Amino acid sequence: MTVKNIENIAIIGGGPGGLMLGLLLQQQGYNFTIFEKESPEINKNRGGSLDIHADTGQLPLKEAGIYEAFKSLVRYEGEDTRVIGKDGTVHYEEDAEGIGERPEIDRGELCDIIKEQIEPDHFKYGYTFQSLIQHGPQDVEINFSNGETERFDLIIGSDGAFSKVRDYLTDTEPSYTGISMIEINIPDVKHEHPELLKYNKNGKMMALGGNQALLAQLNGDGSIKVYVSYRMDYQTFNDYKAMSISELQKQLLADFSEWDQKLRYYIEAMNNEVLCRRIYKLPIGFKWQHHSAMTLMGDAAHLMSPFAGEGVNMALYDAYLFAESLKSHEDIDRAIKSYESKIYQVSKVTAQESQDNLELMFSEDAAEQLASFFKTT
Ligand SMILES: Cc1cc2nc3c(=O)[nH]c(=O)nc-3n(C[C@H](O)[C@H](O)[C@H](O)COP(=O)(O)OP(=O)(O)OC[C@H]3O[C@@H](n4cnc5c(N)ncnc54)[C@H](O)[C@@H]3O)c2cc1C
Repeated sequence: MTVKNIENIAIIGGGPGGLMLGLLLQQQGYNFTIFEKESPEINKNRGGSLDIHADTGQLPLKEAGIYEAFKSLVRYEGEDTRVIGKDGTVHYEEDAEGIGERPEIDRGELCDIIKEQIEPDHFKYGYTFQSLIQHGPQDVEINFSNGETERFDLIIGSDGAFSKVRDYLTDTEPSYTGISMIEINIPDVKHEHPELLKYNKNGKMMALGGNQALLAQLNGDGSIKVYVSYRMDYQTFNDYKAMSISELQKQLLADFSEWDQKLRYYIEAMNNEVLCRRIYKLPIGFKWQHHSAMTLMGDAAHLMSPFAGEGVNMALYDAYLFAESLKSHEDIDRAIKSYESKIYQVSKVTAQESQDNLELMFSEDAAEQLASFFKTT
C-alpha cells in the first residue's frame, strides 16, 4: 500500500525537518521541491550542538541509509554533563562512557549529511512562502515573495517557529515563555582557554541559580557556545538587544556578579559573536484544523522551549512518521490524518517535558533539583 494520488509536493523550509522529509520522499520516488527563504548556507551557522535521540531523531537517519555517515561525525563524549550551582558547587557530574543513546552533532553537519543525498534540482533557495490560494481539494497555488507562483497538490509547512503556512490552518500564535537567551561564543577553547575546557568538559555544563542560568556546550568546531539565560520581561530583552557588545558583556557580568568566578569566566572569555533571542512556544497539545492538502511538521507544528532538547528530534521524527504514513495508506487525506494523530500524541508529551524542565531550571533550588532528576533517571 502507498499513497499514489499526489504528484507534486511543496516542502516549505529547508531546516533539519524539511531536509529529512525531502530525503525520505526522494527515496519513495515522490516529486517534491524544498523552498527555503535563505541561501544554501543557511544551516551552517545557526544554532549549536544538538543531541540526537536513538528512539526518535535517529530513526529517519537509519531509514534513509545515512546513519553510518551520522555516526562518523557524532561526539559520544559530548554527552558529558555537569550541573553546578551559582556558588560553584558541583551537584552532578557524569562523564560519557562508550556509545550512548544521545550523541551530539553540530546543526550544520547534521543538515549537510541529509542535504548532500538529495538531488540538487529538488531545492529552490531564495523562495519565501508568502501566501496561498486554494483552487481545489488537492490544488493549491503558492505565492512567493520573489513574485513566483507555483501549484501543488500537497504542502508541508516545515517553516519553523513563526510558520506562515500555519496561519492557513489555525489562528493560534506562539507565545513568549518568559525566558530570553543571550547566545555567546568562545572560540578554540582547547588552545585559547584550556582551563575552561577542563572545567566545562566535552559536553554540557549547566549552571543554575534562581532566575538565571549559564548553559554551555562544547561544539564540534572546538568552540563553546553559552546560552546566558534569564527569566526576563519582554521590554528588558529589547534593552539588552540594543546594547553594543561591550555594554552587553558589562551588563552580563553585573547580572552574574554574585556567581562563582569560574562561571563568570565564560562571560569574560566571550567574543563578538552574539545572538539575542526570546524563547517562544505553542500551547501544549496544540492541534490545527485538518486539511487534505496541507500539514505541518517540526517547530511549525509544535514549537517548544529547548529545555528538554527535543525540538530537532521531533522535527526529524515527524519526517519519519509522515514518510511512514505515506507508505501505509492509499489515500493522502487518511495518510495526513494518521500522521497528525501520531505527532499530536508524541509532541504533547515532549512539550510538557520541555515546560516542566523550564520551570525546574529557573527555580530557586534549580541545580539541586536538576541533579536529583539526573540521579533518578
Ligand atoms: C537556543 C536554542 C537551542 C536549541 N537547542 C536544541 C537542542 O539542544 N536540541 C534540540 O533537539 N533542539 C534544540 N533547539 C530547537 C531546534 O533548533 C528546532 O526545534 C529545530 O531546528 C526545528 O527544525 P525545523 O526544521 O522544524 O525548523 P527550523 O530549523 O526553524 O527551520 C525552518 C526553515 O524554514 C525556513 N523558513 C522560514 N520561513 C520561511 C518562509 N516563509 N518561506 C520559506 N522558508 C522559510 C527558515 O529559514 C529555516 O531554514 C534549540 C532551539 C533554540 C532556539
